[in-house]
Amino acid sequence: MLLEFLVNIVTSLILVILGLFIFFKNRKSATHLFFTALTFILASWTFTNYFSLHSDTEEITLFWIRVVMLITSFMGPALFLLLHSFPKDKLTVKKKYLIFLTFTTSLSAILAMSPFMFVSVSLEQGVKPTPGPAILVFAFNFFISVIAGFITIIRKYLKARGLEKLQIKYVFLGLIITFGFSNITNFIFVVLLKFTSFVVFGPLFNLILVVFITYAIVKHRLMDIRLIVARTVSYFLLLITLAGFYVFSIFSLSSFFYNIAASSGQIFINVVLVLIIAFGFQPLRRFLEKITDKIFFKDRYETEDLLSKLTNLLSSTLILEKLTKGVLEELLEEIKIKRGAIVLWEKGRVNEFFYQNGTEEKKFPQDEIRVLLKTPVQPVIFDELPEGRRKRILRENNFNFSHVLKVKEGIIGLLLLGEKLSGDIYSNQDVELLEIFSPQLAVAIENALAYQEIQKFSETLKLEVKKATSALEKTNKRLRQVSALKDEFVSLTSHELRTPLTAIGGSLSTVLEGYAGKVSEKTREFLEGAFSENTRLLRLVNNLLNISRIEAGRLKFNIAPLNLNEVVIAALETIKTQAEEKKLKLIFEPRENLIVQADEGKLREIIINLCGNAIKFTEVGQVAVTAWRHGEVAIVAVEDTGPGILPQDQQKLFRKFEQVDGIKASKKKGGTGLGLYICKNLIEAMGGEIWLKSEDNKGSTFYFTLPLK
Ligand code: ADP
Repeated sequence: MLLEFLVNIVTSLILVILGLFIFFKNRKSATHLFFTALTFILASWTFTNYFSLHSDTEEITLFWIRVVMLITSFMGPALFLLLHSFPKDKLTVKKKYLIFLTFTTSLSAILAMSPFMFVSVSLEQGVKPTPGPAILVFAFNFFISVIAGFITIIRKYLKARGLEKLQIKYVFLGLIITFGFSNITNFIFVVLLKFTSFVVFGPLFNLILVVFITYAIVKHRLMDIRLIVARTVSYFLLLITLAGFYVFSIFSLSSFFYNIAASSGQIFINVVLVLIIAFGFQPLRRFLEKITDKIFFKDRYETEDLLSKLTNLLSSTLILEKLTKGVLEELLEEIKIKRGAIVLWEKGRVNEFFYQNGTEEKKFPQDEIRVLLKTPVQPVIFDELPEGRRKRILRENNFNFSHVLKVKEGIIGLLLLGEKLSGDIYSNQDVELLEIFSPQLAVAIENALAYQEIQKFSETLKLEVKKATSALEKTNKRLRQVSALKDEFVSLTSHELRTPLTAIGGSLSTVLEGYAGKVSEKTREFLEGAFSENTRLLRLVNNLLNISRIEAGRLKFNIAPLNLNEVVIAALETIKTQAEEKKLKLIFEPRENLIVQADEGKLREIIINLCGNAIKFTEVGQVAVTAWRHGEVAIVAVEDTGPGILPQDQQKLFRKFEQVDGIKASKKKGGTGLGLYICKNLIEAMGGEIWLKSEDNKGSTFYFTLPLK
């Protein structure tokens, strides 16, 4: 009795408090209003019901029963109206339904107080009221509104998304639990098992519904509250199941065994039952926990793990495409989100758009993105936004979450995420994770962008280099063509010049030697001049021809064993006149017989060149040629008493077209600067070397070697 009274008092109090709390939260909302109405109806029902069960006389009992029926008449309609408007602020029930409902409710209420609903009551075996025909009106009104309420809420649930869906889910859960358990306690236990001890707790079940609805109205993505709710529901289910099993077993089994086995049998049964319960507790608890976890945490992930996964991903690549794709994939997979996008913003417009899942049905207009970008660096959650432009934009583009991507220099883009697969709203955990992750993502994207730029730059650079190279190649090719043309020209002309020059030289020499008659002293002088110039010209032409052949790689050598002394003597013969003209002594005194491996013509040219130079640059004194054996080679030296060559110029001489001033300005003597270059090439081609020794004012000596046979 006392327990029952306490339960009733506490229940009614909580109901009234919750009702008032919700009412004052928003007095204008239809949901809040109908909720408060329902709590008051339930509270008064709890109270009057208590009186109807605990009155002394049949008369008073009948009165309270009628009052209970009066109050209950409003219960169904109130629930219907609440479910219909939930969670909106406006009542949207059609007028005709409202009129109909008002009519049936009023009829039921009026009849409740009349003798037509409950005719009488007897207290002989507990409270036993006798129903009248009007009970049908009551039943019709009650069930019609409850069923209509259920249908509306189910339909709403299917259409709703985000927070609304979650809210409806809680209401739904509350409804199911309440109706489920009040049916179990009030119907199954009482009517089928004739067990009434639990009726006392009946009002508590109403409380469950009310608590659920309260939570749904006040809402929130408070994971911890969800956890408490989940655990509470799980343990509550456990308790009820076990108690139900215990009671059911005791009563069914003991009534079965009652006559045969008395108290000892009951003890035995009790022991067995206690054992079953004790052993069944854990697995059952786990099973129920699993089920409730499935309902409440089906989208659970570990923040730490996911963050470290994402961070790894960020550091694994610098390719923008790969980075954004990877991140979106991971987020969608782990948080279980339908779709996502990363928008990159540059210079006041969208630069790049990366979508994941869900095609880009409609291009996100620039100005809409601009609106979203103007938010502070905080997550924007659709369900928590007040109605307005931003909310509309998110709704139209099917996104539920947005976070700006900000780096030191400013905002570079947006992270957009769609609805969660479960239809749940973004939980605290989600939001916290995304809040931590977004700046990291922003930095990684910035790096990737920088990398992209460098990549592009190096591409352009490569292209430029390629262009320049191909231009150079073209020029080079042309140059080579021109050079080849020139070589051919030089080679051709020199060849053509050489023949007549040789002929002229031959004729002059014949005349000078007196074979064509006596030559007067005067004529001889002129002819000798002509002969000397002709020799110089021939040397020049020969040099030109050699150069062009050397360059073209067409120089042919006819290597054979030669008597070196003989070749030197023959060569000196041709330039003897030049030395005589300058009154220079031209000396060669063979010391030993030397047989070298060389091309005779080339060797002669080398000696003529070196001796020619010596004569050309020497004014007084002599030009001496010597040759001797030195190991495997023969060394030939051409020594003069000319002006000498400065040390810094000595190596230059062997390069093409190189002439040096020397002390006595040898340049003035004419020439091409080719002679020594040709000598070096010829000597080296025949396996020898050339070098010189010279001291200021003490003449020069040119040395070269040739392999001995
Ligand atoms: P060229 O004699 O046609 O100018 P060379 O290649 O034969 O070309 O000689 C190159 C230069 O070396 C000469 O112009 C001269 O300045 C210097 N040279 C060559 N031989 C001598 C030498 N015996 N004495 C001084 N200078 C020399």
